Amino acid sequence: MKTRKITADRIYDGIGNCLEDKVIVLREDGEIADIVGKSQVGEAPLERYEGILTPGFINAHCHLELSHMKRLVDTGTGLMAFVKDVVTRRNAEEETIQQAIKTADREMAGNGIVAVGDISNVSDSFQTKAESNIHYHTFVEMFDFLQKKEAQKHFDSYNKVLKELRGTYELAGNAVPHAPYSVSEKLFKLLRDENRHSDHPVSMHNMETPSELDLFSTGGGEIVDLYEGFGMDCSDCIPGGFSSPIKYALQNMAPEKTTVLVHNTLCGPADIKFAEQWAGAGLYWVTCPSANLYIENRLPRYRYFKEAGAKMAIGTDSLTSNWTLSVLDEMKVIAKFQSQLGFEELIQWATFNGACALKLEDKIGSLEKGKRPGINLLWDENGEKPEQLAESVKVRPLI
Ligand SMILES: [Zn+2]
Repeated sequence: MKTRKITADRIYDGIGNCLEDKVIVLREDGEIADIVGKSQVGEAPLERYEGILTPGFINAHCHLELSHMKRLVDTGTGLMAFVKDVVTRRNAEEETIQQAIKTADREMAGNGIVAVGDISNVSDSFQTKAESNIHYHTFVEMFDFLQKKEAQKHFDSYNKVLKELRGTYELAGNAVPHAPYSVSEKLFKLLRDENRHSDHPVSMHNMETPSELDLFSTGGGEIVDLYEGFGMDCSDCIPGGFSSPIKYALQNMAPEKTTVLVHNTLCGPADIKFAEQWAGAGLYWVTCPSANLYIENRLPRYRYFKEAGAKMAIGTDSLTSNWTLSVLDEMKVIAKFQSQLGFEELIQWATFNGACALKLEDKIGSLEKGKRPGINLLWDENGEKPEQLAESVKVRPLI
């Protein structure tokens, strides 16, 4: 059987190990046949690279369908202005939307991303996902702006999107809540029932902006202003008795599901502890640092998550709230502003943990025999160590 033998200065396997003097033996279909010592393989044909090898990256949170809004929304306006822009300005010509989605899919593949946890409110991205060599797990995201009387109506209309995903396009995915501030208890229950018989992960945006905290502590603030601006009646829609958004949401979700919380910019130690104690299965905290800087000009306190032993993964969010769709670029942002975190740790966030969050860790996410994880080459154009994650570090998928 024909195989490729690939080596580089160092190999990071995604599960905490840095291997030296090792060679990855790869089958034609991309499956890792073995990882052996350099002395065990003959000279030729050995592909030898300057730089480091990693598993293919996992983008644990994206909105491919919002790609056409690149550069349309101002930076630094705060989440509520951002949500308003997305809700009111997302319509565009079908051709423009489709072209942007295709370009974004190719951008991610070129940046070494092999799997994506992708949010869909509509079916615009499904054709591209069906044709892509990237594995997409689609979260059909539902919200009712806390209008419980409207919950069933919204659920039914998003359910059509879910049926199209699974039926027409035969893509993997399931229904999920949008965020604590936009999902009523009634809609949470419909979602719980919908997911009861599947073992898919459940993803949700969480604690991204101070107004989300205001809503639960005071029952008012920017979110109520936004909803009333949309013409909604918020007089009895605010869930009472919850000291924080995460408590409200998790008490309406199922702890036995793999749960993926996205952003978490404002989570403090008590929130993290509460969620970790609540979780009965895998709990993953996805950070999208560039989007947090784009929208809110702030980052999560990664130290809190580290101290709690929380499992972190990385997402790009959409091109509406980011300049690129690159997991490597997200790693660079984290390394720049939070250099307390080590390279091996960030690689694990970018690969294995993301695969676990999407329940794909049996196939991808780490360089191990029997997996088909994709292989990325990272090198620094200025000849520095790629582990420093300087701006000049580049990525190229080798398969
Ligand atoms: Zn998002």
